[in-house]
Amino acid sequence: MGGIAEMIRAFMTALTLLPAPAFADFTANNLLAIFYHELGHAVIDQMQVPIFGQEEDAADSLSILLIDALYDSDDAEVIAYDSASLFWAEAQDEPAFWDTHGPDEQRYFNTVCLFYGADPDAREDFASDLELPQERADGCEDEFAMASDSWNGVLDEMSKSNALKGKLVLQAGAENSVISQEIKALNVEFSWPRDIPVKLEDCGEANAFYDLDEPSITMCRELTGWLSGIAKQISTN
Ligand SMILES: [Zn+2]
Repeated sequence: MGGIAEMIRAFMTALTLLPAPAFADFTANNLLAIFYHELGHAVIDQMQVPIFGQEEDAADSLSILLIDALYDSDDAEVIAYDSASLFWAEAQDEPAFWDTHGPDEQRYFNTVCLFYGADPDAREDFASDLELPQERADGCEDEFAMASDSWNGVLDEMSKSNALKGKLVLQAGAENSVISQEIKALNVEFSWPRDIPVKLEDCGEANAFYDLDEPSITMCRELTGWLSGIAKQISTN
């Protein structure tokens, strides 16, 4: 779809000097997907992106766009697969229709559809493995194009060639996390209206937040244990 995706691919090629992140791991992959989702909230707030609909859906879309754009196709597919699997595992609980996030089963199909739609020819197996109904699959290329066009404009404004001076700032003590590699990579390409601290904290729950007041992104330490529990659950089913 051109634009930002190509640009990011080009810069990721330049980043091969960085140690490779751990791809082969459900927990790490979902930490990345969740971080990208929170990043979506941060971009929406900081860049004052108008959202017609649910902000949570827009944040999910950015997450899958970044997964598609930042990794080569095989790695991206594993990450997207793990991210969708998490929604599927979560969908086994009662849906909470009052929640600002769409029901998990819907988030599952949205994730599968967007990732498939980014490259339908190469990802037919992905879609059929994850049981994307043909009825939905037919429109996924257009869905991806729309999401990509919507986000391209704002991500272009954040590209380094512009005047913004802020960056993502990792909190001390989190240097060896999956997220720290990611922050380095994202700071090469994007800048922000102000510095955005990224914290790794004990929250008392497995969650992640973008705090509008501070503003900052918090990834809760509890996520790691929770995600590895779900990985075990999935592998025994
Ligand atoms: Zn959210």
